[in-house]
Amino acid sequence: MSSVRSYASQTAESPMAPWTINRRDPKPHDVQIVILYCGVCHTDLHTVRNEWGGTKYPCVPGHEIVGRVSAVGSHVKKFSVGDIVGIGCLVDSCRECDNCKEGLEQYCSNGYVGTYNSQEKDGSGYTLGGYSKSIVAHEDFVLHISDKLPLEAVAPLLCAGITTYSPLRYWKVGKGTKVGVLGLGGLGHMGVKLAVSMGAEVTMLSHTASKETDAKRLGAHQFILTSDLTQVKKVIGYFDFILDTVSADHNYNFYLDLLATNGVMVCVGVPPSPAAVPAYNLIFGRKSFAGSLIGGLPETQEMLDYCAEHNIVSDVEVIAIKDINTAYERMLKGDVRYRFVIDMATL
Ligand code: NAP
Ligand code: ZN
Ligand code: ZN
Repeated sequence: MSSVRSYASQTAESPMAPWTINRRDPKPHDVQIVILYCGVCHTDLHTVRNEWGGTKYPCVPGHEIVGRVSAVGSHVKKFSVGDIVGIGCLVDSCRECDNCKEGLEQYCSNGYVGTYNSQEKDGSGYTLGGYSKSIVAHEDFVLHISDKLPLEAVAPLLCAGITTYSPLRYWKVGKGTKVGVLGLGGLGHMGVKLAVSMGAEVTMLSHTASKETDAKRLGAHQFILTSDLTQVKKVIGYFDFILDTVSADHNYNFYLDLLATNGVMVCVGVPPSPAAVPAYNLIFGRKSFAGSLIGGLPETQEMLDYCAEHNIVSDVEVIAIKDINTAYERMLKGDVRYRFVIDMATL
């Protein structure tokens, strides 16, 4: 066991502050990683503030991890000391159910183990995430990272990247697809870049007028300010596919109206409250209202390789870990362009 510095919240109301945690020594199939960068996902904020319920304290969040391998267990084949690697939202699953066998570990029928706030399968406690100096995980849940791209900008691909890539692939978004990306934050800006790279026609749907220039720079072909009904009217019945990344409660029905016949709206954002969607908003126009959770390990590696090939990374603001509480407040105000990433050298 080794003592490792981290940042944790002790209760739903307390700020993030320094905390020392224990990491296990590597088992035969484990990889020990010194963390270089960790992205700040809105899920971290939902979790430390217990907005979804079920948070275990002290809570060390962080699931957009890039680091360097510092030790490997005796049976590890895929990684060597010194390799640059990543860990996303998953650190374990049953590997036996149909979903795991298909590489859909995020839908493990026996429950996946998240990188933080999940029970370990060996009963050793609950998981602690990437706002820490190091982490130990089974090699099956560790990803290869190309050294071609800046590492701080790669970190957010481990959650924001795969969470947007997976539904775009599943629903076969490509040339000719009219895509609306709702919400220009961490997930939204990756959704725009990825959908554009796949050849889709992309419209940014945002409630922040000042993001128009950025949306166009990121590749969006069109920008619609969702509070301006004159602009919104132009896209009623327009989209084949809407990727909803909004973190706060909002009216899904308003956006379902923007779908064309047979259109699909996929929720990846997870607002705290349940919402009502009347059936007639779906049956008129044979619309689908769907959800998607991160991505499995094979698809996450595919996405990382795709991004390396197409030179796609996140737009990041690198912060020192002492500034994480301010970063959370700024995130709540939508004041992030477009992902905070913690430089772990500052811990
Ligand atoms: P983020 O960076 O904070 O972005 C959220 C965006 O939502 C904001 O930039 C803003 O965009 C929009 N927004 C915020 N409040 C709004 C409001 N009141 N009305 C309308 N729009 C609003 O968050 P993120 O890290 O991208 O995460 C987004 C959500 O996805 C979170 O709920 C997170 O937990 C969830 N998530 C889900 C998965 C999954 O597997 N499904 C994975 C990761 C994260 P505009 O200013 O452009 O409107
Ligand atoms: Zn995340
Ligand atoms: Zn499983």
